[in-house]
Amino acid sequence: MTAAAPERDGHASDGAAEHIRPLIDKLDPEATGAEMHALIRELYPICRSITGDGVRRSLRILRRIAPLTLHEVPTGTVVFDWVVPREWNLRKARLVGPDGEVVVDADRLNLHVLNYSVPFRGKVRLAELEKHLHSLPSQPSLVPYRTSYYEDDWGFCLTHEQRTRLRPGEYDVLIDTSLTEGSLTYGELVVPGASADEVLVSAHCCHPSLANDNLSGMVLAASLARLLGGLPLRYTYRFLFVPGTIGSITWLALNEERARRIAHGLVVAGVGDAGRLTYKRSRRGATEIDRAVLHVLASSGQDYEVRDFSPYGYDERQYCSPGFDLAVGSLTRTPHGEYPEYHTSGDNPDLVRPDRLVDSLRRYLEVFEVLEGNRTYLNLSPKGEPQLGKRGLYGSIGGQTHAVASQMALLWLLSLSDGSHSLLDIAERSRLPFNDVHRAARTLEAAGLLRAMDRRQTDAPRGAP
Ligand code: ZN
Repeated sequence: MTAAAPERDGHASDGAAEHIRPLIDKLDPEATGAEMHALIRELYPICRSITGDGVRRSLRILRRIAPLTLHEVPTGTVVFDWVVPREWNLRKARLVGPDGEVVVDADRLNLHVLNYSVPFRGKVRLAELEKHLHSLPSQPSLVPYRTSYYEDDWGFCLTHEQRTRLRPGEYDVLIDTSLTEGSLTYGELVVPGASADEVLVSAHCCHPSLANDNLSGMVLAASLARLLGGLPLRYTYRFLFVPGTIGSITWLALNEERARRIAHGLVVAGVGDAGRLTYKRSRRGATEIDRAVLHVLASSGQDYEVRDFSPYGYDERQYCSPGFDLAVGSLTRTPHGEYPEYHTSGDNPDLVRPDRLVDSLRRYLEVFEVLEGNRTYLNLSPKGEPQLGKRGLYGSIGGQTHAVASQMALLWLLSLSDGSHSLLDIAERSRLPFNDVHRAARTLEAAGLLRAMDRRQTDAPRGAP
């Protein structure tokens, strides 16, 4: 495969989608799944938060597979209605019981410390300690994940089973954390394409030892960046690894003009559990990214679910806020909060399945394939059907099993290519997979029956060039 030099904006890589298909075909579920899963295991023990060294270390590990840049935004920076908080770092957190036994130790599992705990050292009686303990009576064997970002507090999280066994007496609390003037760290990687219009992929990177909610998205985004790197793409792809909420708000505040170039986007999270894929529409609801994802899911032959936008969830809330109104949806597996292990110690690497990671990766690539290849063509022989037989196009495309579908794709293309239907329109209406429609369009183009038209970015936000 040779990399064609981009010609000019939006018109260069008509064949860009054809560079994505080989990536999909080459995906090795076992090797790729094992590699992604190994990375999740490596990242799992690191204590991440919305700021601090855990995020830096994690992003540096991701750099092994994709060359992302780390940005540091100082504490106190005003970002719209928010302020970048003090930087939090954990050195040690340990609770020792009346008889000297270690009750919990963050070295064993970092969920044991209330994330963003202020430092505290001292002896407290059980009644006082209880105010600082967090457990799950309904899931007594799991340790919850709790945070206290915007309120000064300290605490421990433990299983409810363990909590109910705590005996009266004096407990020795050691929470050796620091909250200092520092910075918020985020990772960014741009894979350039022919067009300045961008596809955004955003993952949150602020959760400590949680595998599906956090690490699966980070690893999937980095894997995508690696796969796309160096391809002659139509769109420019921007990958963001940001702490949830404050990170995406920070990026938007610092990149307000750049954000206007985001034509399509997806927030990636929770892509490794055994559940079906779930797509949450953008706030606008029927943009090209919404339709591309829906088409991919409908063509997947698998069970899936589609939900309307709601202003709760991951960072799509920020990208879709009315001041930006970007065409950004979220493609996950089981939605946040809807699997029992969510935000608990049960969300560990064993919950994440290598084959599901690869399945998710595949669907993301298929969505990009649609975006890359979705153009509008004009039938150059629109009066009556052109004679396919004399051009060698009758029953000539693809393998035997696809012959009928390919034939139908040719006919649909010729029928609908009146200048007002995109390939995605045609794929939707014909119920044929986008890949078949796209391939057939290229065949008709080569035969001189179709011509690609320049296409405006209909989903670019208002005010975009
Ligand atoms: Zn979460």
